[in-house]
Order: sequence, then structure tokens, then C-alpha cells
Amino acid sequence: MILLFTIGFLEINWLDIVDVLLVTILLYQLYKVLTGSVALKIFVGFLSIYMLYLVVKAAGMELLTIILGQFMGVGVLAAIILFQQEIRRFLMMIGKTTAFNNDKLFKSFPWRKNDDHRLNLTPFIEAAKTLGGKNIGALIVFTRSSDLSFYAESGDLIDAIISKRLLISIFNKTSPLHDGAVIIADGRIKAARCILPVTENNDVPASMGLRHRAAIGLTEVTDSVVLVVSEETGQISLVQNGIVYRNLAVSDLRSKLNFFLLGIEPKVIKEKSASAA
Ligand code: ATP
Ligand code: MG
Repeated sequence: MILLFTIGFLEINWLDIVDVLLVTILLYQLYKVLTGSVALKIFVGFLSIYMLYLVVKAAGMELLTIILGQFMGVGVLAAIILFQQEIRRFLMMIGKTTAFNNDKLFKSFPWRKNDDHRLNLTPFIEAAKTLGGKNIGALIVFTRSSDLSFYAESGDLIDAIISKRLLISIFNKTSPLHDGAVIIADGRIKAARCILPVTENNDVPASMGLRHRAAIGLTEVTDSVVLVVSEETGQISLVQNGIVYRNLAVSDLRSKLNFFLLGIEPKVIKEKSASAA
């Protein structure tokens, strides 16, 4: 390997630099997944013990090296069990950002364009308006490239044609299907009563309850777009990439849905109505 430079006794080559860069990116991604959760503290604990292990090993303290070495061996298994949720989220995040899952890439194919444009947004907008006006809560998930069948299977499969009346009936408080989320995929209402992953981000304002937190949680791990109608205030919000666009007027809702789902640029993006979660 071509030697680049030396720092004291350390010989640095290209591969070392790539290695350090990759570890930095990996640690940063891990930090992003763990930030705000208890798991971050456990992770820092593990990291400290590992650092101590490296120091005592380098110093030649045999007894402590054996003890900490044993702990590190079991620690990997313990970490997999303790970090189950976080590992899942981390892998989903990687899957979400890979080139094969990249929506922009797929949108360049003509059949994807046709797929997207088949979705008529009017029933959703009108249903949201009606539900908001009556203070009936709703949670509607629009599938993009991430596969949501895992979440759809947590509820009741419907596979029905989209209509304003059906959406309103589902979320009606007396309906047995009103709890949880409706999932839209392939231009159809796929499922209702679905359970979504709730965000663990501590920065989400207390005014947002479980419905909003579930919408944020799902968009953190998938590229889906979620429409939320608040039961308490009747306000309509859209959530994408963990960001909540709150209290949208009907025209705003249409332009944002057009942009997020169909890639149609709004003439004026009203940034004022967007507030980060
Ligand atoms: P709202 O403004 O409508 O009151 P909120 O954000 O304050 O919404 P909650 O009042 O806690 O949230 O809403 C509770 C409802 O949210 C539940 O009845 C259920 O329908 C839905 N919900 C709660 N958790 C989940 C989840 N994990 N997945 C899907 N839906 C959920
Ligand atoms: Mg509430």
C-alpha cells in the first residue's frame, strides 16, 4: 500500500483514511438513530468499557484484559438484544437511503410516472376537510417506495377503491375500523386500524399526542407521507421525513400533497406554515 505520510511511529496510507472516514460516517449515522433515546446512554457505556479494554490491553494488564474481554464477548450479544429496536431502525434507515430505493431514481422510469399520477388526491383532501370540520381524528399513510406491508398487516386488510365516503366511514368514531392508521398503496385503500411505530424523539412538543407521534415515527423510518387530522383541534397536518407541516389550509394541503407524492412543484411554497417537529 502506498505510504501517504507518517505521524511519529504511525504510518498512514490511503486505506487508513478511507477506513477512518467510513467509521466516522457509521458512528454519525448511529448517533442520529440513537440520539434522544435511552439507547444512546447504553451505547456510550459500552463504548467507554471498550475504550478501557483497549487501554488495559495495550498496558498489558492481563487480569483486567481477560475480565473486560469476556464482558465484551457477551456484550455483543447483549447489545443485539438491548438495541433490537434501534438496529431495526438503523437498517431501515440504510434501506431507505440506498440508490435502489431512491425515489428520484425510480421516477425517471416512465412506468413510475404513470403509477404516481394515477392517485387522485381529491378524495383525501375532501375527506380531511369534512373530518376536520367535525373534529374526527384521522391518520392516512401514503406509500411511496418503502414497503409498508409489515405495518398494513398489523391492521385489517381492506384493498378497496379510494373514495371520500369510505374514508369518512372508516374514521367515523362509531366505526370498528376507526382506530389506528389507514394505509394507501397502489392507488387503493390497503388496510385500516394499522399500528405505526411511535417516534422516540424527545424534542416532539408535548402538544402532539400518539397520533402525531406515530405519523412522525413512520416517516422517520420510511419515505411515506402521512396525513393527520386532529381530533382535538380539527387541524390538518402532513408529515414527511419526521417533519410536521401543521395546521394546513385546504389549498396548502393540496399543493404539499402534489409536491410530496406527485413531484409537482408548488408555485409558492409557504414556509411559514411549516414547523419542524
Ligand atoms: P389528536 O390531536 O387527534 O388528539 P394526538 O396526537 O393528541 O391526536 P392522541 O390523542 O393520543 O394523539 O390520539 C390517540 C389516537 O391515535 C388513538 O385513538 C389511535 O387511533 C391513534 N394512535 C395512537 N397510537 C398509534 C399508533 N402507534 N399507530 C397508529 N395509530 C395510533
Ligand atoms: Mg390528543
